[in-house]
Amino acid sequence: MKYVPERHMEYPNNLDMKIRKCLVYFLGMSILFIIWKLSVIETDVEKLQFLKDTLYLNKEQLQLSHQQLILIEHLYQTKLGKELPMIYAVTPTYTRYVQKAELTRISQTLALVPNVHWILVEDSDEKTDLVRNLIADSNLLVTHLNTKTPVIEKLGDKDPRWKKHRGVTQRNAGLKWLRSNLELNKDKGVVYFMDDDNTYSTKLFKEIAKVKKVGVWPVGLVGGLNAETLILDQHTGKVVGYRSGWKADRKFAIDMAGFAINLDLILSKPEAQFSYEMEKGFQESEFLSYFTSKEELEPLADNCTKVYVWHTRTEKPVVKGIVPGLEV
Ligand code: UDP
Ligand code: MN
Repeated sequence: MKYVPERHMEYPNNLDMKIRKCLVYFLGMSILFIIWKLSVIETDVEKLQFLKDTLYLNKEQLQLSHQQLILIEHLYQTKLGKELPMIYAVTPTYTRYVQKAELTRISQTLALVPNVHWILVEDSDEKTDLVRNLIADSNLLVTHLNTKTPVIEKLGDKDPRWKKHRGVTQRNAGLKWLRSNLELNKDKGVVYFMDDDNTYSTKLFKEIAKVKKVGVWPVGLVGGLNAETLILDQHTGKVVGYRSGWKADRKFAIDMAGFAINLDLILSKPEAQFSYEMEKGFQESEFLSYFTSKEELEPLADNCTKVYVWHTRTEKPVVKGIVPGLEV
């Protein structure tokens, strides 16, 4: 007869019991750990808020710099998960005597802005050491690009400024970078065209961060006026017209420095570009037409009552001699 081994009932032996106990214990500890961690995060925020309020209250006595206060604010916002949207600032730049001075000025303004990604586009066949070194010194988040303006589109030394479009190829290179490196519905941000010779208040970037679709604000010292601005309806607060020194009847009579566009819009309209075909002085108007209508514009800077950017121009210096060994 064949021997059939008797089947034993499988009682958990001591070892199994120990493993189970360990598992339950481990699970329990994990839950406790998660609860503890959450409570710590909570108190971290409260602590940070207390710290922030105290530092702000005593900023004079503590001699805290604006930059330090910005950092504290940024830390606090990040902890709260209320990060500011990334501002993609696209800046065309070209070699001339004042370039380093201009870029020093604007990079040091950007150093006071926590949420900025600077897209610096050189009008050149090769990236220059001057710009490369300036970027390395700046500690900013920078994407460095270069693309040369076609020779026939380049402004001659004696030409008046209005004769040619400026910065077209470079702004388009910036747009191309955004569209090839960022993803619609994933990356969030606002795009601003930030020429290298204007003067920017750090307050402007707080306004740019508020842009939902297309935000607009006054620009100082432009178009023969002390400032160009938007005319708002007194009751609705919506844009109804433009106070502009030149062709105020353009669909959007706004300077390049006077608007910013949400990244979603930039990414969802890949055909929108600047172009040499556009009539002189119509780059802004035609570009904005891809994205919005006058009625939809979002007036910022305290309902367009504040000037936070100036269309300054730096005088071309007369250089009669070169001191060797100095990069200026
Ligand atoms: N720019 C450029 N190449 C040029 C001329 C200008 O890249 O040949 C850049 C310049 O550095 C600035 C932008 O294009 O960031 C607008 O130029 P500019 O300030 O001369 O124009 P305007 O203020 O007169 O409109
Ligand atoms: Mn300019």
